[in-house]
Amino acid sequence: MMNKSQTSFHYSTLKILTASDFSQRKLPLMCARGLKEGPDIWLTACGHGEEIGGMAIIHEVFRKLRKKSLLKGTINAIPLMNPIGFETANRFISLSGEDLNRSFPGKATGSLGQRIAEKIFSTILENKPSLVIDLHHDWIHSVPYGLLDAPIPDLDPEAMSLCGEYLKKTGILVVRDSETVYGSLSHACLREKIPAITLELGESYVINEKNIILGLSAIWNLLVYLEMVEPLEERFPIMPDRKKSGWGELMYHNLPLTTKAGIIRYFVEPGDRIRERQKIAQVYDIFGRPIETLYGKHSGILLGHADNSAVYPGKQVFAFGYQLPKTDAI
Ligand SMILES: [Zn+2]
Repeated sequence: MMNKSQTSFHYSTLKILTASDFSQRKLPLMCARGLKEGPDIWLTACGHGEEIGGMAIIHEVFRKLRKKSLLKGTINAIPLMNPIGFETANRFISLSGEDLNRSFPGKATGSLGQRIAEKIFSTILENKPSLVIDLHHDWIHSVPYGLLDAPIPDLDPEAMSLCGEYLKKTGILVVRDSETVYGSLSHACLREKIPAITLELGESYVINEKNIILGLSAIWNLLVYLEMVEPLEERFPIMPDRKKSGWGELMYHNLPLTTKAGIIRYFVEPGDRIRERQKIAQVYDIFGRPIETLYGKHSGILLGHADNSAVYPGKQVFAFGYQLPKTDAI
């Protein structure tokens, strides 16, 4: 169907399995096509069932596209990749307990997770897209940021450098992952020389309207850069402001972990600047005695802290974007 914006929209479904009650389980496919040829972009969300906000961000992108024209190219989306987890507010595919975002590129004869991943991945790959943007969410106490895959030699350098260029254009913090996440959608795309970035857009479970606007703005900024859309009239501030704060590319870092069991009290908030050796949290035993102090390992920004203050030895309680030379091993 055509609307006044001269963009054609097509919504369909992709069958993933027949359930025991013979019901058909399907994924939603959304497509907006501009009048002219141009980049082919994929937006994906809710691969982790409890990370619901990305679905709303995709809805908002398409709502805007109905008002504004898609000047060129195609925007495809799968707003809900893991409906089985979504219905039970579960990160995993509830039936098999698998993490869909560790199952790519998938396998048609493999486990349930691999089968669903294969359906998604082969659909995305059909037209060799220009870019895949996978939307994710994080702890309740976390700031939005964009994640680049860790550089490893067998990934295509051209696709990797395009990812960095595109992510910078979103306006949000640019963080380089410190570890390779095998089986993630972005990693599987990069292996096929397809640029892919991950956006971590604040809390899971509940839709935070502020983060929806931010996610929409970040994606729209990139589409403007690709000359696929006109800028929005409204200007939404991107927090934390990467330009104002002068952050370049940051390195994801989860250290220090806790080494004692007890309760943790945080002295810093997501978005705070962190200095090396800054006191950032204290762990107490169950009599209230301080047993461990945690310090920043490098200077950078606090991306988030864990939602649960009960800790044990080896628990990850922080996510940082540290300012490190790219070559530094973590
Ligand atoms: Zn996720």
